[in-house]
Amino acid sequence: MKIAIVGGGISGLSLACELMGKKRDFDIKVFEADKRPGGKIYTEKADGYICEAGVNGFLNNKPATLELADRIKLPPVRSNDASRKRFIYTNGALQQLPESVSKFFMSNFLSLPGRLRMIGEYFVPQAYKDDETLENFARRRVGREFFEKLLDPMASGVYAGDPSKMSIRSCFSKVYDLERKYGGLIKGFMVLGKEAKRSGKKVEAGPGGTLMSFSGGMYSLIETLVNILGERVIMGKAAKGIEKTSGGYRLHFTDGSTYEADCVVLASPAHNSADIVRDFDRSIHDILTTIPYPALSVVSFGFRKEKITRDVGFFGFLVPGKEKKKILGTLFDSSIFGERAPEGHVLMRTMVGGARASELSMLDDEKLISLVRNELADIMDLKAEPDFVRVYRWERAIPQYELGHYLKLEALDNALAKHKGLYLAGNAYHGIAVNDCIANSVRLAELITSERL
Ligand SMILES: Cc1cc2nc3c(=O)[nH]c(=O)nc-3n(C[C@H](O)[C@H](O)[C@H](O)COP(=O)(O)OP(=O)(O)OC[C@H]3O[C@@H](n4cnc5c(N)ncnc54)[C@H](O)[C@@H]3O)c2cc1C
Repeated sequence: MKIAIVGGGISGLSLACELMGKKRDFDIKVFEADKRPGGKIYTEKADGYICEAGVNGFLNNKPATLELADRIKLPPVRSNDASRKRFIYTNGALQQLPESVSKFFMSNFLSLPGRLRMIGEYFVPQAYKDDETLENFARRRVGREFFEKLLDPMASGVYAGDPSKMSIRSCFSKVYDLERKYGGLIKGFMVLGKEAKRSGKKVEAGPGGTLMSFSGGMYSLIETLVNILGERVIMGKAAKGIEKTSGGYRLHFTDGSTYEADCVVLASPAHNSADIVRDFDRSIHDILTTIPYPALSVVSFGFRKEKITRDVGFFGFLVPGKEKKKILGTLFDSSIFGERAPEGHVLMRTMVGGARASELSMLDDEKLISLVRNELADIMDLKAEPDFVRVYRWERAIPQYELGHYLKLEALDNALAKHKGLYLAGNAYHGIAVNDCIANSVRLAELITSERL
């Protein structure tokens, strides 16, 4: 059976790798538009720095990436313990995020009324809806201060999103389910806590887990997969259209060539997949174009250690929207993972843009660098000139799961049911993290194998 996968990001490559192990007669091809594979995963190595252009790592509280790494014999590396310390910029200063729930209640991270309001969540009546924005949900259940100081920056840290538009059901499904199933978050944690105690497991309120990567950065994962897949991966080949044939599908490429397959997986970003199906199925095209991808830039600075006066031996900091700053946050990469900067140097990466300030990320290099320098001077008194500078631009970065995202997924499932052997994959649908992409690829490989055409 011939299987064509469009898109050589982690979704497409992990799917191909998974399918390879399923059946000997699977003839798999991955068509990647770019000259290099990996999509949002790319690690630049320059001047002794190992610098992530996009994806920084993955959490070990979900098994998908670790299991894949194990299968392809690529040892993961764990982030340093220093990186457990995280900060939030609030009321004009960096404030450390307490590391446990009990420390959180004892600290003055939130005001006393803010903490009492949070505990009062226990008494907030259940009022879950089919979907709700993260902001409405959070204000209703845990109060304004908890939302503004903690959940809002988390939303920009993970999704570069706008909480007034993000879907609680699709972005934080576990939290949404706590209200739906148990009547509230504290009530839910109490039930889950008791169950976990019985089974000896741990319940996590937030994303939890420890950040992991690979020696040499996240791109090692892509390089290893591409090595394993060999000539199955074809670079510089952009699909532009698709049509049905008697037994399957014919893909059309921008270079005028075509490829016929029994089964086609579009693992390209939703807007690219929309272009490919435009003349094939308008309804799929129209739904895909409603998934926004705001722009985001990553500005990396390297410094000689002696230029930095304050402690940067921690994970980094996030900036809540209400602080009206121009950056989303900064990660101290050389503190998170070893060997990211040459001896005696420090590497940090700052995110600019996202759903609330997409236009800022598209400033020209000079303005963007100066914006980040001004913000770092203000937030952490870092006025020194960086010795190493890189700007990575993602014009369409992270797909946004907005209010009603689940309805788009239902409509896509219905529309795809008419096209046996055609599938959508990638981070636009059921989870944006690398772990989700890989877990979804494992499931899709299983489905394709079981549905053998
Ligand atoms: C700045 C940034 C930081 C991030 N950090 C993290 C992180 O630390 N941890 C985490 O878990 N997730 C992170 N993410 C999310 C991450 O992007 C995804 O989890 C994952 O990498 C997406 O993989 P993908 O294969 O689904 O899509 P992509 O990586 O977007 O890959 C899609 C591929 O399809 C190709 N393509 C597009 N059109 C065509 C066409 N017509 N024909 C052929 N090929 C085509 C593209 O060139 C691309 O290579 C981050 C994202 C960004 C932007």
